[in-house]
Amino acid sequence: MKKEYIIPIFVPHLGCPNDCTFCNQKSISGEQKMITSNDIKKTIEYFLENVKDKNAYKEVAFFGGSFTGIEYEKQEEFLKTAYEYIKDKKIDSIRISTRPDYINKKEIKLLKKYKVKTIELGVQSSNDYILKKIGRGHTFEDVKKASKMIRLHRFKLGHQMMVGLPESTKIDDINTAKALIKLKPKMVRIYPVLVVKGTQLEKEYENGEYEPISVVQAVETCKELVAMFNKKNIEVIRIGLQTTDEISDPSNDASEVVAGPYHPAFRQLVESGLWYDSIVAKIKKLNVKVKEVQVTVNPIDVNNVIGHKKENALKLKELYDVDLIVEQDDNIKQGKSKIEVTKTYND
Ligand code: SF4
Repeated sequence: MKKEYIIPIFVPHLGCPNDCTFCNQKSISGEQKMITSNDIKKTIEYFLENVKDKNAYKEVAFFGGSFTGIEYEKQEEFLKTAYEYIKDKKIDSIRISTRPDYINKKEIKLLKKYKVKTIELGVQSSNDYILKKIGRGHTFEDVKKASKMIRLHRFKLGHQMMVGLPESTKIDDINTAKALIKLKPKMVRIYPVLVVKGTQLEKEYENGEYEPISVVQAVETCKELVAMFNKKNIEVIRIGLQTTDEISDPSNDASEVVAGPYHPAFRQLVESGLWYDSIVAKIKKLNVKVKEVQVTVNPIDVNNVIGHKKENALKLKELYDVDLIVEQDDNIKQGKSKIEVTKTYND
């Protein structure tokens, strides 16, 4: 399988008329500058020069929330710039992310014209009350309509959802995942809510109206969501915001995060937790007192089976007095495993 590379291009959504309470775009819009075609070219060229695997699958991704919300002429200019590289066979595809209420026939036509392959929609929640509470300015009906239109025109559909939004319970988050699964996305991103400086949510947090969920709560909810998506073969392409200078531990001076379930290895916590649960479930089913268990997995999964800072191995020893041995085997598919009990207390 070809290695996949994303060439990320951040498109600031200047003057976004919406007011999502978790978003700081209003407070930082003065510091933002709209990118130019030249910036796009420079980013792509830089990437193409530096990528080692020349045969890799390369995708230009316009990130930043609402690509189809920016000026129509600008969209066309940006798409055209990236499309030139597709024509020259230097990149393979284009991806954009946008809001569900910014998808219409005219936009679909434009995105088709420049061979955009993937459209990701910021959904956040399937609950209209919560969408209203966070000032999204669209309903879940908009998500349904846009998702249908995207699939009908044979784009690859992606969804982004949030966990721990104001007034959203774990059940609400699970219901959002259920509602998304019905819309048949190919991929999802899951973002636990972080309280960021300069947002309405920061005010709500400061005056006690909003209480963020803890890392443990966020991990528990995300584990359930990932298991649901995995079961339906929907790829979970991100769990948690990427760590940057701004998105880092709230105790760092440079961090823009005030509170919330931030963890630098959030995805690993979720995936390790799922492995831990499956090992424990296997042990509990047996009618013997297990002393040592050997888990054989694809090399990619080894760290997740052992756990962040060996947490799984340590917990198994402490709670069940079981030693964990992890073996690697390239022939086992990623996510699959062979779990064998290698010693029991009766041996
Ligand atoms: S998250 Fe909401 S407020 Fe922020 S840029 Fe996107 S649509 Fe606008």
